[in-house]
Order: sequence, then structure tokens, then C-alpha cells
Amino acid sequence: MFPFLRFPITLIALGAALASGIFLYANDHLGPLDEFFRSHEAFYTDVLPDAVPSSATTTSPAGAPQAAVPATATTSVPILVYHIVRPSYPTDSRAVRTLAHTPEVFDAQMKYLADAGYHVVSFADLERHLTDGAPLPSKPIIISFDDGWSDQFTYAFPILKKYHYTATFFVFTNPIGTRGFITWDQLRKMRDAGMIIGSHSKSHPFLTKITDPAILWSEIDDSKKTLGKNLGVTVNEFAYPFGQYNADIVALVKKAGYASARGDYYRGAGQTMDRLYGLSALNAPTTTELFARKFPAR
Ligand SMILES: [Zn+2]
Repeated sequence: MFPFLRFPITLIALGAALASGIFLYANDHLGPLDEFFRSHEAFYTDVLPDAVPSSATTTSPAGAPQAAVPATATTSVPILVYHIVRPSYPTDSRAVRTLAHTPEVFDAQMKYLADAGYHVVSFADLERHLTDGAPLPSKPIIISFDDGWSDQFTYAFPILKKYHYTATFFVFTNPIGTRGFITWDQLRKMRDAGMIIGSHSKSHPFLTKITDPAILWSEIDDSKKTLGKNLGVTVNEFAYPFGQYNADIVALVKKAGYASARGDYYRGAGQTMDRLYGLSALNAPTTTELFARKFPAR
């Protein structure tokens, strides 16, 4: 009966099966990541991206003297922050789209850095420069990743290795090994390849809203100890969740033994010794064109 109908029905059925397959596939990759960014959508879409233009900074670090640098002397070392590196999905929320880089775009940005004469350095390099005046290469830049999403291991890590870059991965410890998050085994592989693992607290709270000092201390200190114990390294870098901190939190971060801490996302590339525990970060632009405009070749 009605053989002429069979073709369109088959097509519709095929289309529906495909669509639901893609949907399931996409959502399997979203899960906690998308929930996380949805629940902080206002912060990540309205506050974070390009809220304040990066300030032009002056002092060239090349040939810096081997002596104590004045606490307020500014060194231009952009600290790039990446959150999500993975293929995009039609179901991605606005917050995810604002923060996500496809592997192709991430690769192009990493290639651009090399082509434009940038030199990737670590937080330890910057700390030694600010503290002791240790010289930095020309056009220094720091690459960092937030939260410990497993896609960073899958997609960003191989690209970083390809360009022989080191990056710092700030992970919050409670969800390590759970769905969507990086595993201890993956963290060890990254550590072995020269990546730095930093702390991003235990549960990624707004630290400034925590009133119980014991909880605050646990977020800062236990996360450091957990990472240190499981990875066999000393964890020297901290990144405040949402870039939010105050003087009390800085005091605890110092007391826990961190060497530096990454702070707000808005103040551009200029770093100073008196902000070693509030280093200025920049959300990595999501297109290569914007990226090149923000980080010119000369
Ligand atoms: Zn974060």
C-alpha cells in the first residue's frame, strides 16, 4: 500500500533517529559542564568576557635587572584563561558558547603565539621575575585552564604538546574523576608531560561569600594537600574561583604556602609584585581574529 509514502517516511524516521542520536551524543558530552555554566550564566556571559579592555603596559621584561623589582613596577605578562576546548554542539548554552574554543581555534591560537614571537612561560617564571628580577624572555605569556573538564585533556593537552608549551591547569578537587571531569590518571599524564597542576579550591565556591573560616581554610588548604598527595608534587599556584578574593582570603592563600595566585579577569596583562596574590588574567578571546588583535605581533 502507498509505496510512494515509504520513502518520505523512511527519511523522516532516519532523520529523527539521527537527530536524537546527535542530541544524546552532544548531551553526553555536556552534563555537569553545561549545568555548571548555566548556573553561573550571568557571571560568565555578562561579567567575564572583555568586561574591561586590557590595559597597555609599559615595562619590557627583556633584560630586566637581576635585582629586586619595585613592588609596583609593571611587567606585561598576559595570563590567558581557557575553560572549554572541544567541538561545539547545537545544544550548547550561551555561557558555554561564550567560553568555548573548538580544537581548531585553540590550535590556531597556539600557532599564532609562536608565529607572533610570544614565549610561553610559567607562573613560577613570573613569580621569580617579580620577586628577584629573574629575566623573562621577550613577549612572555602564560596559558592557564580552569576547572578540570576532561575535554581539556582530550583536546587541549595534545595541542599544547605539539607546540611544546607548558600550561597550568587549575582544578577543583571534589569532582576529579566524576563524569565530565578529568581523572587522577589524566592529571598524572599531564604532570609527566610538563604541565603544571594548580588548585582552584575544593568545590568552586565564591570564596568571598564563605563566612565559616574553617570551611574557607579547607577550600584553600585541603585542595592543595589533596593535589599534592595524589600527584606527588608541591602545588604552588592557586586560582580564585570566579576570580573573586579579598585581603582575608589572600592571607590564607599565603599561609597555606602558595607562591602566587591568579585573580580577577579584568585588569589586563600588567603584573606587579604587590599583586602576586591577585595576578591579572584575561579570558582568551574565542576567535583567532580577536585573539590576534588583543595580542599583536609587535
Ligand atoms: Zn573556575
